[in-house]
Amino acid sequence: MDYKYINNMLAEMDKDLSSKGLSRRDAMKLAGISGASLIMGGASSAEASTEQAPAVSTAKGKIVIVGGGLAGMSTAARLTLNLANPDITVIEPQALSVSYQPGQTLVAAGIWKESDIAYNRDDFVPKGVKIIKDKVIGFDPNHNSVTTASGETVSYDYLIVATGLQLDFERIKGLEAAGRAYSSGDNSKLLKVLGDNGVCSIYTAEGATKTWEQLQKYVAQAKSGKKTQFVFTDPDTPVKCGGAPKKIVYLTNSRLKEAGARENAELTYYPSGGAMFGVPEFHDAILEQFKREGFKWHYRHNLIEVELENKIAVFDSKWQEKGGWDPVMKEFEVIGKHEKLRVPYDFLHITPPQIAPREVGDSDIGSAAGWVPVNKETLQHIKFPNIFAIGDIAQLPMGKTGGSIRKQYKVLVDNLIAKMEGKKLPSKYAGYTVCPLITSIGTVMLAEFDWTVKPTPSFPLDPLVERWVYWLMKVYALKPMTMYGMLSGRA
Ligand SMILES: Cc1cc2nc3c(=O)[nH]c(=O)nc-3n(C[C@H](O)[C@H](O)[C@H](O)COP(=O)(O)OP(=O)(O)OC[C@H]3O[C@@H](n4cnc5c(N)ncnc54)[C@H](O)[C@@H]3O)c2cc1C
Repeated sequence: MDYKYINNMLAEMDKDLSSKGLSRRDAMKLAGISGASLIMGGASSAEASTEQAPAVSTAKGKIVIVGGGLAGMSTAARLTLNLANPDITVIEPQALSVSYQPGQTLVAAGIWKESDIAYNRDDFVPKGVKIIKDKVIGFDPNHNSVTTASGETVSYDYLIVATGLQLDFERIKGLEAAGRAYSSGDNSKLLKVLGDNGVCSIYTAEGATKTWEQLQKYVAQAKSGKKTQFVFTDPDTPVKCGGAPKKIVYLTNSRLKEAGARENAELTYYPSGGAMFGVPEFHDAILEQFKREGFKWHYRHNLIEVELENKIAVFDSKWQEKGGWDPVMKEFEVIGKHEKLRVPYDFLHITPPQIAPREVGDSDIGSAAGWVPVNKETLQHIKFPNIFAIGDIAQLPMGKTGGSIRKQYKVLVDNLIAKMEGKKLPSKYAGYTVCPLITSIGTVMLAEFDWTVKPTPSFPLDPLVERWVYWLMKVYALKPMTMYGMLSGRA
């Protein structure tokens, strides 16, 4: 740790705090009381106290949850607390399904090890919940049943879809053999295709370890004096944790600086969209950080191909040109143009396109885009009222994060129980999400927002400032909060 830097950060934080009438002690106290929960969604102490003693319902019905990751298992846990006679089955094939994905960024930067984020599904199955260690391959919502890969038909009264999403590496030319991957579990096929020549992705747990290996190799290359190109992609699909494709840019920068190799490195970020972030205030802040750190960026570039042998990333580059005058609309036409751009790299970090698992997208419960279409406030399926969806698979306007799930699973449980009791659905999700944007080893900007597309800070501090205290929360508080708070159904 660079103590001079930390002292500067603390001095800055003190300045900011005193303008709000707070001392550092007050801030740490606040952070201590609700520290991790503030990162995951700002629990007030009143909220926390009601969580200890949930109202127990005597409603009955067979609930099947497809997917036992963070969303599925947290929901199962909360339902067991809220139902007097729970009848819950979780169907989940992966042994490490509850592993802590937000930690993959830290593994990729050599701060944590893969063993720090690996957790066994079987240690997190709530008491009384039945687990089927299998994959659902068919959904039949008209007959209230699902079919597993081993041929079992499982019927339900209520279905919760929590399958998360898939990493669609096979869509990228040159990487087709990698197929589609999940964040946890065996990803040896993907790693074999990516190889050992500078291509990596933090989007799988094993891939995060591999990223750290590659990162060290190319930091060493830059340190040896060779000009080294670090290229980072961000696809044209929704992604889980929209900040993660940028976090790896910042962490690479930190490791290069630490090694004294920054001047030999060029860091270039290629997002397929036209902004750094969906919330204008955070976009502006990130842009300033990119300028400060000397990163390059090119908007509207979507990775479509990797020539592994030649070390070339091929992007579909889009732009607009002014066309002819439209006398009806009384304005110039805008003509969309695009071309292939070949970019040489030494180190290439891929954020893969992300999609709904095929079995969901191709079934009657999926939308045309594949995701499960739900009412964005109640999380109830728009066509099948006894089906709910949560987490990354839910078709919601934004926020595929654990922080969103922390809000969603309480809403879902309240609404599902009301549905079982024949009552009106009482709870509404307001779109809260959070991205602890790591901007260096030692600083985080806490981007919290909701469907108002405005910063919605849980903490009485300027949300656009990068802070060490949020780094401490990210590294020390968030994981226990998730693994022992959310996954017990209480936090
Ligand atoms: C690199 C990275 C960084 C991140 N950083 C943050 C962060 O800083 N903050 C934050 O809040 N969030 C972060 N996230 C996002 C967060 O981890 C995810 O949003 C969250 O884990 C999603 O939970 P889920 O339960 O919806 O999906 P998952 O946790 O992926 O679980 C889905 C489960 O469903 C199972 N499944 C899939 N298909 C089927 C099927 N057909 N039948 C049965 N089971 C099935 C899968 O095996 C899987 O175990 C990050 C994610 C990544 C990858």
